[in-house]
Amino acid sequence: MNLDKHTRALVDHLSAAADLDSAAAVLHWDQQTYMPPGGVPARAEALATLSGLSHGITASDETARLLDAAGDPEAGSDAEAVVRVARRNHERATKLPSGLVAETSRATALAEPAWRRARADRDFGSLVPHLQKILGLQREAAQHLGYEAHPYDALLDRYEPGATKARLESMFADLKRGTADMVRAVSAARDERTAPLRGAFDEARQETFGKAIASAFGYDWGRGRQDRAPHPFCINFGGPGDVRMTTRFDPDRLSPALFATLHEAGHALYEQGVDPAYNRTPLAGGVSLGIHESQSRLWENVVGRSRSFWSHFYPRLQDAFPEAFGGTSAGDFYRAINAAAPSEIRVEADELTYNLHVVLRFELEVALVEGSLDVPDLPDAWNAKMEEHLGISPTDDARGVLQDDHWAIGFFGYFPTYTLGNVLSVQLFEAALEAHPEIPAEMQRGEFGALLAWLRENVHRHGKKHDPEALIEQATGRPPDTAPYLRYLREKFGELYDL
Ligand code: ZN
Repeated sequence: MNLDKHTRALVDHLSAAADLDSAAAVLHWDQQTYMPPGGVPARAEALATLSGLSHGITASDETARLLDAAGDPEAGSDAEAVVRVARRNHERATKLPSGLVAETSRATALAEPAWRRARADRDFGSLVPHLQKILGLQREAAQHLGYEAHPYDALLDRYEPGATKARLESMFADLKRGTADMVRAVSAARDERTAPLRGAFDEARQETFGKAIASAFGYDWGRGRQDRAPHPFCINFGGPGDVRMTTRFDPDRLSPALFATLHEAGHALYEQGVDPAYNRTPLAGGVSLGIHESQSRLWENVVGRSRSFWSHFYPRLQDAFPEAFGGTSAGDFYRAINAAAPSEIRVEADELTYNLHVVLRFELEVALVEGSLDVPDLPDAWNAKMEEHLGISPTDDARGVLQDDHWAIGFFGYFPTYTLGNVLSVQLFEAALEAHPEIPAEMQRGEFGALLAWLRENVHRHGKKHDPEALIEQATGRPPDTAPYLRYLREKFGELYDL
């Protein structure tokens, strides 16, 4: 990066905070993969200390002084982006007392294993005190961060700069209106097209097959690895040089691990593609969760559930699992992986009903944050919303309110970024196709070079240099828009279900 001496001094000062965040990320990763249960209390203290130190640097008077000295660099330059992002981080950090930050880190480190136990025991009651503590800290954080219209906006802005509850409500209304007739039609269909996906799937072969696809996408194993965790995630330590994925395997079903791997590979490709010049600076890493999710959903769904993709990979899947797929046609497999029906589990939901799972969580967390819903009443409220939006009731809390760890780890305001990602994934893919009409033909050969190159050039390499909306406008020529996504759903599911 070409920086003037004032911006360089600011970056050098903040690099220690970036290092502390990388160290905390390693501890998080370890906690969710290999750490024995006995490590929980000490790990919670270590994470609280690291986040407190990092917060201290970002919020320090020295950072304020260096920001003043850096002034307002030339628009469009790296220096201008560094100062803009560093200033936003500093302002956010000074609004939050360091005690609140450390307490949140400690509380969430204790609640994450409590959530794991509660889910295994189907015992929501054991998680209630943890969630009450975390919700209290989140509401306190919203007051410190400040907002214009609603406390939820303050929490949302941490993940998606510029997004608001009001604009999300209008996006969700668009999506509900645009898909309601299709959701009704597939609910009535009640067919058995997912049957080919059930069987016996050796875990080692699942792992090998998933890794082969990640390699074909362009994931660099020299700068990453894949481990097992109860909740699949992607995490990076200090830049594109170490970007890891996790997954979980179900020996009776192929799709959970397969599509989780494609999804996390999409996140990982983004992080591996950020300009290494941004390492240890405020511009490192993906710009927002919505943009991040646009990458994971693009590879998982727009690519990974397409006919072009499977025309190459299905014969290979049949070779890997001859007992399960020897007698299933490519067409039946395509219909199976795209079968749509209201279901209980968000991470396994089809593209058509997925966003309804997000609407439900969005409405519940807004109610929790504004205080119109209490934590002990959450399971009942959850079940009522499932009925309202999806027309079904969960079998139990493990397949209902306990299925996601987000609230236990303090991620209030996070869920809507999944739907933003869905919407943006198709907008970006359309723009890539326009620039490279050869992409579908490449996919039929199991090659993804043109697509990855377009994403690298227009999205990945920029890191946090441009704010989310500006990045989308620059990459696609227009602001974020639900129209391409609704068009895509109508075309795909219209064909699949003769609508
Ligand atoms: Zn994701």
